[in-house]
Amino acid sequence: MFKLENIIRKNIIDLTPYSSAREEFKEEATILLDANENPFETALNRYPDPFQTALKNELSIIKKVAPNQIFVGNGSDEAIDLLFRAFCEPGKDKSYVFPPTYGMYEVSANINNIETVKISLNSDFQLPHINELVNIVDSNGLLFICSPNNPTGNVYPLNAIKEIAVVFSGLVVVDEAYIEFSSSESAISLLNELPNLVVLNTLSKAYGLAGLRLGMAFARKEVIAVMNKIKPPYNVNSISQIEGLKALKNTKKSLSQIDLLKSERTLLTKALSAIPSVITVYPSEANFLLIEFDQSDKIFVSLKSKGIIVRNRTKEVKNCLRITVGTPEQNRILINAIKDI
Ligand code: PMP
Repeated sequence: MFKLENIIRKNIIDLTPYSSAREEFKEEATILLDANENPFETALNRYPDPFQTALKNELSIIKKVAPNQIFVGNGSDEAIDLLFRAFCEPGKDKSYVFPPTYGMYEVSANINNIETVKISLNSDFQLPHINELVNIVDSNGLLFICSPNNPTGNVYPLNAIKEIAVVFSGLVVVDEAYIEFSSSESAISLLNELPNLVVLNTLSKAYGLAGLRLGMAFARKEVIAVMNKIKPPYNVNSISQIEGLKALKNTKKSLSQIDLLKSERTLLTKALSAIPSVITVYPSEANFLLIEFDQSDKIFVSLKSKGIIVRNRTKEVKNCLRITVGTPEQNRILINAIKDI
C-alpha cells in the first residue's frame, strides 16, 4: 500500500531546505537590499519568483488543480530528476519502465544509482495486463508511464494506468509531454482518487517553447511540497516565467498549430504508407510517427546526406525511425526524399 512517508528518502525528510531572500520577504517593499543583487534596474537584475506564483495560478485555472498541486521546473526533465532524488533510495529502490519509451527515465535513474526494471510493452505497444505485472505489486520506487508514448506514439487507457497505480506502493509518473496532440483525456482527472499519481506536462512540444525549458508536475500537495523542498531556489528564470505565462494566456496560436500538425500527421501517414520501402506507419497521437522500413539504417543515412535529420530508433524497435511532423513544406520535402531513396 502507498504511504508517502515510506518512500521519501530519509535525508530529505531530515533536510532543512535553503531559504532564499525572496522566500523570507514577500511583502511590498521600496528598497530591496536583502539578496545581494545589483540595484540598477534592468528587467533582469532581480531574482525570479522562487514559487512561480503567476504561472501556477494560470496553470491552476487551465488544469483545474490547486496551485499547491503544481510543481514548475526547468523542463520536465528537472521534475524527473527531482522525483528520483526525493523518492528513491540509491542502491535500494527501483525504477520501472515500459520500453520502448523515453530514454531519460533510465538515464536519470542511473545518475541517481537506481536500478531500472524493464517490462516490455506488448506487440501492439500496449501495457501488459495487470495480472502479468506481479513484480510491481507492493513495490516502492518510481514507475513511469509515457502516454502518448515516445517513440511509439500510442496512448494507454486511463483504467490500465489506474489498475497499476492501485497496486504499486511507490509513485506512478504519467508523462504526458505530447497530450495536446491526442484526443485522450489527461490522467490529471485521476489525481483526486490516486494519492501516488504524478502527471508531467511540458511547454516544449505543443506550445512551441522547448528553448524556454518549462515543465510541470501535477500531484497531491504533499508530493509537490517535497519536490519544492529540494528544488534549486530559483529553478525557473524570469524570462521563462514571463514568456510561459504569455503562452498560457494566449493559446490561439498554439491551438491552430496543433490542428495543423494533427492534419499533417494524417497526410504524412497516408503518403508514407504508399511508399514501397515503408512497411508500417504506426498510428500516433503525438507530433511524431514511428515508421518501420525495409532498410531503416539505409533510409536514415540517405536522409541525413540530404540534410534531413530524423531519429534512428532501430535499436529500440527493429527497423524503425521516429520522424517528427514538420511544417507542410518540410513534410513534402521529406516524402519526396524518401520516395527517391
Ligand atoms: N518526456 C518526454 C516523453 C519527452 O519526449 C521529452 C522530450 N523529448 C521530455 C519529457 C522532456 O521535456 P522537457 O523539454 O520539458 O524537459
